Amino acid sequence: MISSISERITTIRASIPPSVRLIAVTKQVPSEVIRAAYAAGIRDFGENRIQEAATKQAELHDLSDITWHFIGHLQSNKAKKALELFDWIHSLDNLKLAQRLDELAQQLGVSPQVCLQVKILPDPSKSGWSVPELLTDLPALNECKNLQIQGLMTIPPLGLKDAEISHVFNSTQELAKEIAAKNWTRIKMRELSMGMSGDYQLAVEAGATMVRLGTILFGNRS
Ligand SMILES: *Cc1c(COP(=O)(O)O)cnc(C)c1O
Repeated sequence: MISSISERITTIRASIPPSVRLIAVTKQVPSEVIRAAYAAGIRDFGENRIQEAATKQAELHDLSDITWHFIGHLQSNKAKKALELFDWIHSLDNLKLAQRLDELAQQLGVSPQVCLQVKILPDPSKSGWSVPELLTDLPALNECKNLQIQGLMTIPPLGLKDAEISHVFNSTQELAKEIAAKNWTRIKMRELSMGMSGDYQLAVEAGATMVRLGTILFGNRS
């Protein structure tokens, strides 16, 4: 089990350009398995639940060079905890939450790296900005002094064909370019967090800089 994880990591890592950051998504994956992934060279781990992440981070505190990425929907009442536990928040999905995080980051003396989660196609099952909403909120986001806004994150709706998934990823890339062209003082568009086990190759082709992989590394979650 453990050795097969290291083999899978080696194979997948070799299939992605070295410049793309591989984030191992370890929701529902126990700490021993995270250790195996660490031993295989992974340093970026993604979690989507605050409490689960807190427990595992305590168990793994000796692995001090891990970068933790929050990838789940963040409720405002867990925002402070999220800032304490995570270096990155990929799933910033509304202006109010951004402003709350900005205020808390100031109080805590941290400056988290964040991605803005955008929905290229309507998807009632996901949170995130629609494109017009995001464009409207950019000036206010640019005022969030304590957030390092680094790029966009997207998850295509379930059930799309490959060509449609590629369209979502390419549109996200175009949107990032369009935003970057406005030369904001704070907002940067260096990162595209896109691609999961089923579609990461399409995401990489469309310019993803970070892929978030769970199942393909660790098997199916229960
Ligand atoms: C679970 C999850 C992933 C990983 O999905 P897999 O299909 O298991 O690779 C990536 N991103 C987010 C936001 C997730 O919730």
